[in-house]
Amino acid sequence: MSLDLKGKGINTRVTHAGENPDSVHGSVSVPIYQTSTFKFRDADHGAQCFTGEEQGYIYTRVGNPTINTFEEAVTELEHGFAGIATSTGMAAVTSIYMTYLGAGLHMVGTDAVYGSSRMVMENEFSRFGVEHSFVDTADLDKVRSAMRSNTKLLYIETPANPTIKLTDIAACADIAHEHGALLVVDNTFMSPILQNPLELGADIVLHSITKYINGHTDVVGGVIITKTEDEFTRIKNVIISTGGTMDPHQSWLVLRGMRTLSLRVDRAQANAQKLAEFLETHPKIDWVRYPGLKSHPQHDLAKRQMKGYGSMISFEVKGGVAGGKVVLNHVKIPQLAVSLGGYESLIQHPASMTHHNIPDDERLAAGISDGLVRLAVGTEDVEDLLADLEQALALV
Ligand SMILES: *Cc1c(COP(=O)(O)O)cnc(C)c1O
Repeated sequence: MSLDLKGKGINTRVTHAGENPDSVHGSVSVPIYQTSTFKFRDADHGAQCFTGEEQGYIYTRVGNPTINTFEEAVTELEHGFAGIATSTGMAAVTSIYMTYLGAGLHMVGTDAVYGSSRMVMENEFSRFGVEHSFVDTADLDKVRSAMRSNTKLLYIETPANPTIKLTDIAACADIAHEHGALLVVDNTFMSPILQNPLELGADIVLHSITKYINGHTDVVGGVIITKTEDEFTRIKNVIISTGGTMDPHQSWLVLRGMRTLSLRVDRAQANAQKLAEFLETHPKIDWVRYPGLKSHPQHDLAKRQMKGYGSMISFEVKGGVAGGKVVLNHVKIPQLAVSLGGYESLIQHPASMTHHNIPDDERLAAGISDGLVRLAVGTEDVEDLLADLEQALALV
């Protein structure tokens, strides 16, 4: 029997969600069902698995016990109806687009969404006649005026990358629903520990589990969690037929990573708060964006919809790109690499790296200035991180 998690705290739920010791040997860790297909007991059983009269497994692209264990666990953390694990975060994004959009249909998205989430819409889905508007969703008037009668999705990312701008999830849910559209939230930056969009009115939430959920910078993956059975069935059918499923070994690894999610998130965001406060008063820094600072223009919204402020910081070193490069090249602990959400600190320069293919005027309009440095704070000792930044800034 699995533990009833109703009313249990987040640390208990992240530890035990999806837990169901195997009935044959009692293995506490879920076995890796490394199989592509499943044998039926007899012809009738096979037929019943296909009609759904029996809940048996058929084929791993359709379902697999190890994958399902991960899906159940993450669904528990997001308070959803059910989850669907995908090969990467982008497989989750494109599966949602494919499920709800088509020729003559429209979506509204956050202008500073993850680069590929915007590019795949602008370059690929547009070829099939899908229409889109990417706007600053922090401004609800802009969201309202972008909605059309053929809008099927309002797709937001909050905090957005790398501007750390927030979007009001509950308000966007109302706007989407007034227009007969669904609200989708990319919750990667917060993880299910710090923000639960389905509880704020969203219909679908997704994560790149490559980031916080796996947390060890060694696996890519994605997951979609829906509020209702209808949305689950629609998206699941698309993923079964298009094939962006996760595999059993990958599922086992990400479940293993997820067990320490709340510990890692707590430590990393405590570090981030101290680093942001240090940077804010440093003479070599122009500005710092972190939702946990009172200077963040949406600090009140952060308090309202987030359970913590996360561990992503953006800042600009005096001297723009040149100053930023001195820091990038001289910090010793944060590694110069894209990605985020792992145990280790990573630092990067969006204008020349993750966001290099956005035209300059659009990038600047979205608030990604030339000298912006993005720091994904890890779980190291904060004293060591502070001393490291201090010595790098002294060289500017
Ligand atoms: C990384 C990321 C994605 C894409 O995920 P992959 O696992 O790299 O495919 C989508 N959204 C956000 C916010 C991300 O950080």
